[in-house]
Amino acid sequence: MAKLEIRNLSRAFGSTRAVDDVSLTVADGELVCLLGPSGSGKSTLLRMMGGFERPSAGSIFIDGQDVTEIPPERRPTGMVFQSHALWTHMDVFGNVAFGLKLRRQARHEIQRRAEAALEMVGLAGYGKRRPNELSGGQQQRVALARSLVLEPKILLLDEPFASLDQHLRERLREEVRDIQHRAGITMVFVTHGQDEALALADRIAIMRDGRLEQIGRPDTIYRQPKTEFVAGFIGQMNLLAGEVRQGTLAASGISLPVSLDEGLATLAIRPEDISLQKAIGEDGAVVHRVTDFGTHLSVELRTLQGLRLKAMTEPAQGWVAGMYASVHPRKFSVYRDGRLCALTAQTSGIELPAKSQQLEPA
Ligand code: ADP
Repeated sequence: MAKLEIRNLSRAFGSTRAVDDVSLTVADGELVCLLGPSGSGKSTLLRMMGGFERPSAGSIFIDGQDVTEIPPERRPTGMVFQSHALWTHMDVFGNVAFGLKLRRQARHEIQRRAEAALEMVGLAGYGKRRPNELSGGQQQRVALARSLVLEPKILLLDEPFASLDQHLRERLREEVRDIQHRAGITMVFVTHGQDEALALADRIAIMRDGRLEQIGRPDTIYRQPKTEFVAGFIGQMNLLAGEVRQGTLAASGISLPVSLDEGLATLAIRPEDISLQKAIGEDGAVVHRVTDFGTHLSVELRTLQGLRLKAMTEPAQGWVAGMYASVHPRKFSVYRDGRLCALTAQTSGIELPAKSQQLEPA
């Protein structure tokens, strides 16, 4: 097990600040996902952790030791890349055993450890196959075994399952999680898939333009996004431009009592935090499209101002396109200049318009 500490790490490519003053600590045995849009600096940050990229500034510590200047092969880290690049002229066993041979391990030890690694990734008995006789998922497991066999204290994974189909990705994700628990390896996992991050991570680090936007447990990131960017990036979120006047935030026909200074603000409501009530006549929003997911209905609405809004309801509510609905947020948050400035308590059941209620900032 190992603790990883990143201090004020930066990496510039010409005028691009790929990673910009990032500090982050990953605890012993913890799995942190780096999540963010393409180009936000996730891979560059991970590659610096592994020693494949030199920082422009800052330092990296593993178990208190400064490894910033230490090359990849002498760091206690292992790396699994998106493209697995197995050696096609070697069989699976040869691929997995290669790193141990380089380290001049005894033959019986190589045998034992390579077999154990293949078993760990569910490929016991596949040692004699050639990589081209394996499926994409199996090849990626070999790549994983090739890293695990070297018993890294920290395993760094760069979108390792991105090229696989959804079903396989989910299975491998679970296996990574199992391996991490069994072997107690500290892991940093880069992904641009929020589902992957929510399913895997002990903590999620959200990256944006080379900076760390927010880091926290998945439920905290989901329920208390600190910035409008995170709110819009994780899960589904209705983000409605509005204005606060005399203690009321008005956005897209929704009015909510808030104790905020006057001015522009963005109202953020998750679809599952909206309750819909049948509206009389053409008051309210019109139901544009309904998708039945079995467990819930996804209801897309257009407000009187023509804005889109998404709600999630019980299937029994029976919404169909063309109906009119009034929109009641049970929970919402407010952003100003991109930052969270107010967050309601869960299921406070705000009635509209209830101007007497005050919203306290979180
Ligand atoms: P992500 O992994 O989030 O997609 P990257 O770390 O790959 O992001 O890239 C971050 C930024 O740094 C991007 O603007 C990218 O174009 C730039 N970048 C990454 N690697 C290089 C490189 N070797 N040379 C020049 N620019 C690079």
